[in-house]
Amino acid sequence: MKIAGAIDVLDHGHVSLVESWGSDERIIEAARMSTQKGFEGWGPIDEPCPRCGKTRSQKRDEAVREGRARDKPCDGLSAKDNEPCALRTRAGDEKLLAYLWKNHHATPFEMAGATFEIQAPIFIFREWHRHRTQSYNEMSSRYVPLPDVCFLPDAGHSVARSEAASKRNKQAGLVDGAEVLTMDAARDLIAEEADLLVMVEDLYQRKLKAGFPKELARTHLTVSRYSRMRASANLRNWLAFLTLRTAPNAQWEIQEYARVVQSFLADRFPRTLALFAESQP
Ligand SMILES: Cc1cc2nc3c(=O)[nH]c(=O)nc-3n(C[C@H](O)[C@H](O)[C@H](O)COP(=O)(O)OP(=O)(O)OC[C@H]3O[C@@H](n4cnc5c(N)ncnc54)[C@H](O)[C@@H]3O)c2cc1C
Repeated sequence: MKIAGAIDVLDHGHVSLVESWGSDERIIEAARMSTQKGFEGWGPIDEPCPRCGKTRSQKRDEAVREGRARDKPCDGLSAKDNEPCALRTRAGDEKLLAYLWKNHHATPFEMAGATFEIQAPIFIFREWHRHRTQSYNEMSSRYVPLPDVCFLPDAGHSVARSEAASKRNKQAGLVDGAEVLTMDAARDLIAEEADLLVMVEDLYQRKLKAGFPKELARTHLTVSRYSRMRASANLRNWLAFLTLRTAPNAQWEIQEYARVVQSFLADRFPRTLALFAESQP
């Protein structure tokens, strides 16, 4: 069961945006509570001519109304001066947004947020739930059987990661004395894992039928089994999550989920997410 607009992740997972609140503009409004000025607009913003007080767009409207191809000279001067207006534009609130982001003035980013529904393997949820300040609700295998789908690694990807892992990334290193993983070995072991998962599911169903309560029937299930949850947080929190989970040292599978979360957020908060993307190494 997927929410409309869900994006597929891994072999059986998906992420969908349940709702989001706030916007780049709301973040500016929150920051401007200190000066009570509110959101002024994204740039470039027209500044009025210091002599006549008209802006570029007012001058343009005036020319259209009067059927002229060009602006009139500035009417803040005498006619003989025949000078144009001293029109200027200035940066808009994107400058303030960038300032907030770069200087870690983070609380305005708490005024926006999003809730996602996620189907992911339990081993991903183990990592995700370490982000203790997000809010979660997960389906309960005490009350409903978990979906009969498990994550299976890809053989080629496993070999590539095995080659890269021990050299670059301690987190994903190999055990001492590990052999060089070949495609044949990877394929064979993954096929064995797939067979094992069939046996695991068969035992699960037999336990359920035999009358085991669901909370006990599940005890032998693997962490590759998919589960489903909702995760909710403010934007500051999601950006901290993305910083950690899109980084190359995070497990590749959770990076895949984080990238989808990032794409949904970029759709809703394009200016903030652009600043986030620029600031990543
Ligand atoms: C690559 C990688 C490898 C990891 N490996 C492991 C691992 O091997 N084992 C493991 O257990 N975890 C591991 N983690 C999880 C990691 O330790 C963090 O729990 C996780 O990244 C969430 O970060 P967080 O604590 O900042 O987030 P949150 O829990 O959402 O907290 C957000 C912020 O709130 C504050 N905060 C929250 N709780 C407390 C508290 N109790 N006391 C003080 N301040 C608090 C902190 O400022 C924190 O940064 C790993 C994470 C990554 C990205």
